Amino acid sequence: MSTATRPADAPDAGEFGLIARHFQRLGLANPSQVALGIGDDCALLAPTPGSQLAISSDMLVQGRHFFPDVDPAALGHKALAVNLSDLAAMGARPLGFTLAIALPEANDSWLKPFATGLFALADAHACPLVGGDTTRGPLNICITVFGEVLPGMAMRRGAAQAGDDLYVSGQVGEARMALELRRETPWALEHIDTPSRPALIERMDRPTPRLALGQALSGLAHAALDISDGLVGDLRHILRASGVGAVIDWASLPRTGAIAALPEVHQQTCLLHGGDDYELLFTAPATARDSLLSAAQASQTSIHRIGCITAESGMLRLLDAAGQDRPILGQSFDHFAT
Ligand code: ADP
Ligand code: MG
Repeated sequence: MSTATRPADAPDAGEFGLIARHFQRLGLANPSQVALGIGDDCALLAPTPGSQLAISSDMLVQGRHFFPDVDPAALGHKALAVNLSDLAAMGARPLGFTLAIALPEANDSWLKPFATGLFALADAHACPLVGGDTTRGPLNICITVFGEVLPGMAMRRGAAQAGDDLYVSGQVGEARMALELRRETPWALEHIDTPSRPALIERMDRPTPRLALGQALSGLAHAALDISDGLVGDLRHILRASGVGAVIDWASLPRTGAIAALPEVHQQTCLLHGGDDYELLFTAPATARDSLLSAAQASQTSIHRIGCITAESGMLRLLDAAGQDRPILGQSFDHFAT
């Protein structure tokens, strides 16, 4: 909502000029699912008839979700990536997104790279920006994505079954290592060598939404979610919603060299509680193992079987290679935890 009026003689000034310069990409063909894009009171989307709309919002707040000096191009990427990751977790296909943004000032040299990072990812997934809102205020970015999925095909948190295998995609924990480096946490500075740091920072700043994998899993996997707050904390959402338990096999968690080089307590912090990875955590029946490997290959995303789902509701166990219980140290992220 805006109280500003557009000056007829100065189309490039103020709020509307800013939108036109950075967010309204005239002349670019919209994909067929967009009947009307930016410029009217509403955008009009045309989902495939018979499909369901999948909708998700995520807000990024300066000082809470990103550092004030973050590269604006990386921020544009990440703001959309975390939203697309939610579509991926449901097995949905992106249709478009809206951007509500509060800016302290109309700074073109900041907005330009921000929009470049944002649109590079949007274009890669044929997910156009169809509208939004722009206001002055402390930097705050809220994106809503719209996707579509066939009825009954969305992977819900409550669909895990006892006996399912438990999987994670890609690599977890590196975003947390980067965060601890940025915070200059002593153990991170001590154990993470300098050459491996840029790749870790990249993992935190530019997560990859696993959209192709998510769509390939739909119909094979039972429950799924994307890991934003830490593997253990997010797994507990599945356990609670499904009324099941789980066993994580410590040795089978995927580890990059940088993580494997950490003492175990810090490995646990990163692998079990590291947020911001945006990998998919999912369960699937053992009969789906071969099909899952084909799905992973087709979507060029690795998957790792890391444990199983049990009938013991709410019970989460971590087992070592000898089958002995290990304590789960620490906990996952919660904005309102005391
Ligand atoms: P209204 O007052 O009717 O809500 P606005 O004046 O806020 O509309 O916005 C004008 C048009 O620009 C609308 O189509 C809106 O969706 C779009 N818009 C505003 N801000 C953004 C933004 N940050 N990104 C994309 N589109 C935007
Ligand atoms: Mg508006």
